[in-house]
Amino acid sequence: MNADLHCHSNASDGLLRPAELAARAVNRSVHMLALTDHDDVSAVQETRAEMERMNIRFIPGVEISATWNGTGIHIVGLAIDPADVQLLEGLRGIRESRAGRARAIGDSLAEAGIEGAFEGALALAGNPNQLSRTHFARYLADQGHARDMKSVFHRFLVEGKPGYVPHQWASLDSAVGWIRASGGAAVLAHPGRYALDADQMRALLADFRDLGGAAIEVISPAHTPAQYREYAGLAREFGLSGSRGSDFHGPRESKADLGSLPPLPPDLQPVWDQW
Ligand code: AMP
Ligand code: MN
Ligand code: MN
Ligand code: MN
Repeated sequence: MNADLHCHSNASDGLLRPAELAARAVNRSVHMLALTDHDDVSAVQETRAEMERMNIRFIPGVEISATWNGTGIHIVGLAIDPADVQLLEGLRGIRESRAGRARAIGDSLAEAGIEGAFEGALALAGNPNQLSRTHFARYLADQGHARDMKSVFHRFLVEGKPGYVPHQWASLDSAVGWIRASGGAAVLAHPGRYALDADQMRALLADFRDLGGAAIEVISPAHTPAQYREYAGLAREFGLSGSRGSDFHGPRESKADLGSLPPLPPDLQPVWDQW
């Protein structure tokens, strides 16, 4: 089963339109695809229609930005109801907070001598409520401020750097709650990316499990093979199942293409078994 349960369209910070994403999933032999745009489900319906036309299993999803104990984390919601009013209201609140944060990122970059970044990123995103650091990174790379996206993040957009602005996202409680109330399964996305030590990670997993979280994204391009084993072990220990997602944003830009990662470790319950 080639399940890819994490990717983005141009409704958030991906580069492909829903139809292009669906065609790529088919060409890459993906059997089950979840679209998981950041804090947004507006492309779910169109992607679902495209996938069903090509007889590929489609799972409606979302990737919710959350703050846990001061650390930014992402919670993927799978098999959600994209029409659930409580979920939609929660996501709208997060998106609306993106506009002011993006202005602050622009101001902060201007102070560091880079003018026009807000306008440049906005032109790429199309909507101030959709503005993410990815759009700033694309603009800054285009303007030659760094070699590629990775170096842009390293130099400008992460904690301690000129274009970084702290932000309060949804609580873990809200993010998991909205997903569950809409009938979905909550997945802790790419845990290897968080600035948490081993004890803090276990505390996060305990909170996540207690709130009704379902799975850990064990197989992610953010992880090394050693981390596949580490997070598979933690999933078993905390009674969580495992997920697999490429976090694909676009050709050339993304580390992993759709459906291209190793399989889940065989002794781990796949989150997709329940569908
Ligand atoms: P935001 O939600 O605005 O904070 O933007 C986060 C997005 O930036 C993530 O979803 C990734 O797409 C992208 N991102 C974060 N860190 C990096 C990195 N080191 N390299 C490339 N892209 C990154
Ligand atoms: Mn992204
Ligand atoms: Mn993420
Ligand atoms: Mn993602």
